[in-house]
Amino acid sequence: MDTPPFSELGLPDTLLAAIETLGYERPSPIQAMSIPPALLGKDLVGLSATGSGKTAAFTLPALAKLDVKLAYPQVLILCPTRELAVQVCEEVHRLGAKMHGLQATPVYGGAPIDRQLRALRNGAQLVVGTPGRLLDHLRRGSFDASRIKMAILDEADRMLDMGFKDEMDELLAALPPDRQTLFFSATMNPGVSRLIQKFGNSPEIIEIQQKARTVSTVEQSYFEVRQRSKVEVLSRILDMNPPRLGIVFCNTKRSVDECTEDLVNRGYAADRLHGDITQQMRERVLKRFRDGAVEILVATDVAARGLDIDEIDIVFNYDLPTDPEDYVHRIGRTGRAGRSGRAVSFVYGREIYRLQSIERYTRSVIKRERIPSVEQVEGRRADLIFDDLKERLESGKFENYQDNIDRLLEQGHTPTDIAGALVTMIREASGREGGAIEEDREPERPARRENVRPQRDDHGGHQRDDRGPRQERFERAPRGESQGTEAGMTRLFLSLGKTHGVMAKEIVGMLYREVGLPDGCLGRISLFPKHSLVDVPEQFVSQVMDRTRNARLRGRPFRMDVDRGPGDRG
Ligand code: AMP
Repeated sequence: MDTPPFSELGLPDTLLAAIETLGYERPSPIQAMSIPPALLGKDLVGLSATGSGKTAAFTLPALAKLDVKLAYPQVLILCPTRELAVQVCEEVHRLGAKMHGLQATPVYGGAPIDRQLRALRNGAQLVVGTPGRLLDHLRRGSFDASRIKMAILDEADRMLDMGFKDEMDELLAALPPDRQTLFFSATMNPGVSRLIQKFGNSPEIIEIQQKARTVSTVEQSYFEVRQRSKVEVLSRILDMNPPRLGIVFCNTKRSVDECTEDLVNRGYAADRLHGDITQQMRERVLKRFRDGAVEILVATDVAARGLDIDEIDIVFNYDLPTDPEDYVHRIGRTGRAGRSGRAVSFVYGREIYRLQSIERYTRSVIKRERIPSVEQVEGRRADLIFDDLKERLESGKFENYQDNIDRLLEQGHTPTDIAGALVTMIREASGREGGAIEEDREPERPARRENVRPQRDDHGGHQRDDRGPRQERFERAPRGESQGTEAGMTRLFLSLGKTHGVMAKEIVGMLYREVGLPDGCLGRISLFPKHSLVDVPEQFVSQVMDRTRNARLRGRPFRMDVDRGPGDRG
């Protein structure tokens, strides 16, 4: 669904600035439809599932209405669980980051009451909490409900399922009658409808109409992966089945930038597209993608709009989209023109519910896959090298290096050892070391939402736990790549890379011998398919650029310049 930009929703500049910092490019449908009427003071019923962006849909108008100069509760958000209360409060802090004087506090059962009392006494303007504990505070007099302007019920259906009906009734009845109420619920049922009738003031009902769509030619799967392991898992999947062209979709500009940088640092020919990329650069990137010079395009939904390329073999949902329709658009980029395509989604924790709503929306099954191990990736990489080798042998297009090979044979090395050593060298030269992946749970799919019998966490401190029974954590060798340059060093770009046969030691040789750099002064050298990056002490940058102007590597002229990041490496 096309939504207007955030700037047209009527939000104050402080909130727009925070949204910009978070990198949200445009509102999700529930946000676009809820924010304007909520800002006008209307009561709302928002029917939308987790993952639709509903938290920001109610947090933004709540923050817009709140007066940071007044030190008493003005907004109340009710949540079913402690976990959700904490998450909502985090989103409040993120979105309210530019509102000086904002105080928001979570209040839930199973946690010491003193800190909560202190936060309430110190003038919290926004209180997010579970019904039981909030009612405790109301009865003790520590929560002043008399000046609440806006009440929000998050996951109203779930709160009722958890048996909070009486607490909710009592809390809502204690609020000023002229307050505004926003009800959010994944489903509409008699319980929710009764609440709305009793406590709502002719609310506007907002339901995101979802047309069911199917995408039959695309094989869809998902991996359970934590945020910090996403690049590693992405690399392994790419290495297992190197695509001709692939798109990696992220939800924010920041995520696009970080993912692109990580991929480039790992030696993939990746580039990016998002709302801040100029039209001229966009065209350049797209041309390079069409030509295959860029194999992996990292993009936001908006930036990838109108992209019409048939040869895309794989689409990644690096971040799961908030709108199922975006999912359909994203994966529709592959499996075109009768080709088969693959769509891979990364999910973690509660995102599984969002994936399930995508399954319902697309009426398709998204199957879980296991993350390939480092050993599997290594094995696969060796297989691919042997495939290439076989092809090369059959084509006869290679030099025979007879003398050198004879010399090795005379020294007693067997042909098998020589070939094995060569393949190892080729594999090492591809430079992609397996990294660590952290998993902290048995990657079993949780029961569908309908079947989950949540436990209330208000009094007894039992938390609903979506996680599987086993806690598992395995770590491997630390990642080989670090991304930043050391202090005092400058990263230089060199327009030749592995595909030109360049080796790190040749770059080193040139810089020490021909440019005359003092021994041992060089930093990291990273080789990529079509370029290399060299870290050089700042004071030698102009010397390097001057003296390499007419130099050649492997018989080729090259360009050497201060590296300005992936976008400029064309
Ligand atoms: P929610 O449905 O509120 O649980 O939100 C799901 C996720 O989407 C959260 O991680 C939000 O930070 C993120 N999100 C919310 N709104 C947007 C947006 N307009 N663009 C990108 N991400 C968003």
